[in-house]
Amino acid sequence: MKDMIKINDPCIGKEEIEAVEEVLKSGILTDKSGMGPRVLDFERRYSKYVGARNAVAVSSGTAALHAALLSIDIKHEDEVVLPSFTFAATANAVALTGATPVFADIDKDTYTIKPETIEGLLSRNTKAIIAVDLYGLPVDLDPILEIAHHHDAVVIEDAAQSHGGVYKNRAIGSVADITCFSFYGTKNMTTGEGGMITTDDDDYASTLRIVRTHGEERPHSVTRLGCNYRMSEIAAALGIVQLEKLPSFLEKRRRNSEMMTQQLSTLGKLVVPMEPEGLKHSWYLYTVRLRGANAGKRNKIVDRLESKGIAATVYYENPVHLQPMYRETIGQKKKTLPETEKAARQVFSLPIHPKVCPEDVTYIAENVKKATA
Ligand SMILES: *Cc1c(COP(=O)(O)O)cnc(C)c1O
Repeated sequence: MKDMIKINDPCIGKEEIEAVEEVLKSGILTDKSGMGPRVLDFERRYSKYVGARNAVAVSSGTAALHAALLSIDIKHEDEVVLPSFTFAATANAVALTGATPVFADIDKDTYTIKPETIEGLLSRNTKAIIAVDLYGLPVDLDPILEIAHHHDAVVIEDAAQSHGGVYKNRAIGSVADITCFSFYGTKNMTTGEGGMITTDDDDYASTLRIVRTHGEERPHSVTRLGCNYRMSEIAAALGIVQLEKLPSFLEKRRRNSEMMTQQLSTLGKLVVPMEPEGLKHSWYLYTVRLRGANAGKRNKIVDRLESKGIAATVYYENPVHLQPMYRETIGQKKKTLPETEKAARQVFSLPIHPKVCPEDVTYIAENVKKATA
């Protein structure tokens, strides 16, 4: 049998290996302010890539979200509106600040937070809205920014999955008030573990740099709550190389997803992912949805694909508001989110990452056809 086609697989070449070796030989592995030479270089390149005034490198996507919330002075009595159909880290970052996550439902076609559902969830205590670019598709930011700014709330975009995405001619990272990226091993580009925060607001950026290194404005002078969220020089060196390769990674993801759609869209039993007019998907995940009689067979279909060497995977089987901690301790007991819960039962994702070749796409599509027949 052929090797398992993984759902995502990092692309590491000799350039990355050389870059890391250089750091190790240089002896500069990190910097106490979080601003070593490679980190500064990576930040400069990243801010240019997304077209934002500032980029602040951190140790993970979760650190990016938590630091973003700390930098806007979220307090215990505050509330943050966010989708439940996301990776738990989005909500955990809110819970870590002591604020209350308020979960919103999704749009059934894009799987991202539905702007019309936000208004009804706002209160005097709403301090921020976290919009998530699920599967790599940019969320509809303009109406969210309008609602938020009307209520003096900040829009934080969780772009952990959408490096290279475009919203109405603007690169993701330059649209929301604050945008958080992840460079975890499976993401569109990776530093092993790592993250980046971009913002046009210079005040947020300087606060973020303080939060990133223990809240110290100067050595031994803590002026606000912070943590060690610094990026290492090794990670930054990896990031510089990966950022250069990102356009070619994204092209391959796009080629694979277009081929997949060509082969699956005639099927009728599946809803293939959409790319609304004016938006550019980053194709982090190619997520399909079962309809009709097939909907109840999702897990069987995923198991069948797995037995054929295709790591089809469900993101996310348990929406955050239904996970034990959120259901039992954070007041989500009675919460129901119909579109979120339906999607969680019907979707699964297929491999389209850069190491998937055209023959793999055809193999995957053929097996999806058989499994759903
Ligand atoms: C990966 C991911 C995160 C967390 O990023 P880490 O770098 O793993 O901490 C947050 N939100 C979403 C939507 C993600 O996919």
